[in-house]
Amino acid sequence: MRTNWAGNVEFRAAAVHRPASTGEVQRLVAGSSRIRALGTGHSFSSVADTEGDLVSLAGLPPEIEIDTAGLAVRVSAGLRYSDIAPRLNDAGLALQNLASLPHIGVAGAVATGTHGSGDRNACLAAAVTELELVTAAGDLITARRDRDHDSFSGLVVALGACGIVTRLTLTTVPAFGVRQWVWADIPFDAVLTQFDHVTSAAYSVSVFTDWGPVRRAQVWLKHPEPARPPPYGWLGGRLATADLHPIAGLPARNATPQLGLPGPWHERLPHFRPEFTPSAGRELQSELLLGREHAAGALLALDQLRATIAPFLQISEIRTVAADDLWLSPAYGRDTVAIHFTWIPDAAAVAPVLREVEAALAPFAPRPHWGKVTSIQPAVVADRYPRMDDFRRLVREFDPTATFRNEYTGAFL
Ligand SMILES: Cc1cc2nc3c(=O)[nH]c(=O)nc-3n(C[C@H](O)[C@H](O)[C@H](O)COP(=O)(O)OP(=O)(O)OC[C@H]3O[C@@H](n4cnc5c(N)ncnc54)[C@H](O)[C@@H]3O)c2cc1C
Repeated sequence: MRTNWAGNVEFRAAAVHRPASTGEVQRLVAGSSRIRALGTGHSFSSVADTEGDLVSLAGLPPEIEIDTAGLAVRVSAGLRYSDIAPRLNDAGLALQNLASLPHIGVAGAVATGTHGSGDRNACLAAAVTELELVTAAGDLITARRDRDHDSFSGLVVALGACGIVTRLTLTTVPAFGVRQWVWADIPFDAVLTQFDHVTSAAYSVSVFTDWGPVRRAQVWLKHPEPARPPPYGWLGGRLATADLHPIAGLPARNATPQLGLPGPWHERLPHFRPEFTPSAGRELQSELLLGREHAAGALLALDQLRATIAPFLQISEIRTVAADDLWLSPAYGRDTVAIHFTWIPDAAAVAPVLREVEAALAPFAPRPHWGKVTSIQPAVVADRYPRMDDFRRLVREFDPTATFRNEYTGAFL
């Protein structure tokens, strides 16, 4: 893999290694002066890039050890959510939540604080109870939530800066069914004035809007069974009568089934089906996560920028994420609203618009998604993480030789 999924980052690494065992990962790291883990390359930022070597864990044996009684699963770090979710479901278990796509690597998603939606759903990394990782010296160590109280919360969302994760243990819940309904043509003012009502209307809620002059939103509701159809005329919108793709004009078959069709959690919580291209394919993404008490203020600020945003935008998605205690999670310590933008794939054209959007939301001190593009300076981002100094200390402890450091993490560390 020489570029990221979107093609906007060309990896500078001299080599991409694909070890077949944990021992091989250890030997590789011990013999390297600069090396970093690469997941499935779905980040739009240069977080994975390095001038040293990259190591993909996709060649490790694909272990999925399910502990049904303990509601836990231990997986090797090269696996994607689409590899583990069906196996979990067959065993009667589920993950509490998933991102918009199941194509992403578990370790990469965890390392960047990737999230789905839901007032009560924390980011995907919050499910991690144990990590196995290779440190800069090539040692294999484990970190556990119930034991390593002074380091665990820093090691989970760690941007690959503390080591190469080789296995993760995730907490699970009993498997559940979900039905998905899409409401179209909801007046944007209804979202603005009834934000809490909208985001609490289902287990997972996504509000899509294009910031165009028509000022309408589409709301995707994912209800666990027993699910009831929403009331007629909800928020002045209309219930969609055919499956939709979040981006107008793109094929609905790429999206997970809607219209209230019953299905297992892993075939409804993501918006996109694993066997098809997620989202647009040709795009750039940015996302700002801010305290949810600022939702109305932030949306109002963007409402003023419609004419600036809309020409460069494919779609925007507004979600909520529950607070967590992971030091570098964008939802650390605060219930969060996440405002996402899928832009056209033209970095030069998007850059000034992105700056304007991020300036308009600056009063709300947003934290940009680690895996997406941003114009916010690293020092400003660092200041928005109360535990950043603790994270810096942790990195010095786990990586005293700066083996895992790259330009991206160096700017914070
Ligand atoms: C179409 C699309 C839709 C998306 N939807 C969402 C969404 O719904 N919600 C959301 O929050 N994000 C979303 N994202 C962003 C995506 O979830 C993140 O970029 C995530 O990091 C991707 O995982 P990855 O395996 O591709 O990581 P990569 O991009 O490969 O790597 C990201 C970081 O993780 C580190 N890493 C990877 N593997 C390991 C390991 N084994 N040990 C240590 N560090 C490791 C890398 O070093 C790097 O720093 C989306 C991206 C795309 C392309």
